[in-house]
Amino acid sequence: MNTRETQLVAKTKLEMLTKIMPKKLVLMTQHCQQVIDNTSPDPSVQLIALYQLMNEVYEFIDNFTPCHKGCNHCCCYEVSLSEIEIRFIEDNTGIKRKQDRENIKLGKGVFHGKPCPFLTEEGCAVYPVRPYVCRRHVTVAPDNTCCDTNLSQTVLLPVVRFEQIDEVFGEICKRYGHTERIDIRQVFEPLSR
Ligand code: SF4
Repeated sequence: MNTRETQLVAKTKLEMLTKIMPKKLVLMTQHCQQVIDNTSPDPSVQLIALYQLMNEVYEFIDNFTPCHKGCNHCCCYEVSLSEIEIRFIEDNTGIKRKQDRENIKLGKGVFHGKPCPFLTEEGCAVYPVRPYVCRRHVTVAPDNTCCDTNLSQTVLLPVVRFEQIDEVFGEICKRYGHTERIDIRQVFEPLSR
């Protein structure tokens, strides 16, 4: 399948999934701010609630994606992290952040092609507490060919995205008092070291 065909299939699948998504999930995404606010005033608890909501929504999206355990292409992309996610990983794994970190601006492609520090031969070592972007990054392309780091920056494909969920995540970070995002490689050492 050529690039044009791949893009067309992805676009069609995205339209289809949007059309047939169960009403319950549509309402959950549309009202996710309210759902999260009803859990607790504590942003750390709200983050867990948001992840649970996303688990339900993305379980449905699993039916449309070639993403599968063992495919680690997007674990070699830039992975942005906010302070609340860093604390969530630290508190639930015992893994602590590096003392010093390089000051590199995100979005420059500096980390593209470099494996995430938590990527192991068995997959993600922190999967239950993985960052927000790892949960959100799902392709609906027919296969994972274009996800390869050599192609992913040149072949533009539609991706599944829920603006309301993005906004709620941003709001939780704001409530936690930190909105800065840095790359996961700036925060954590590779596990094997
Ligand atoms: S945290 Fe896990 S899922 Fe996210 S990029 Fe790293 S290895 Fe992949």
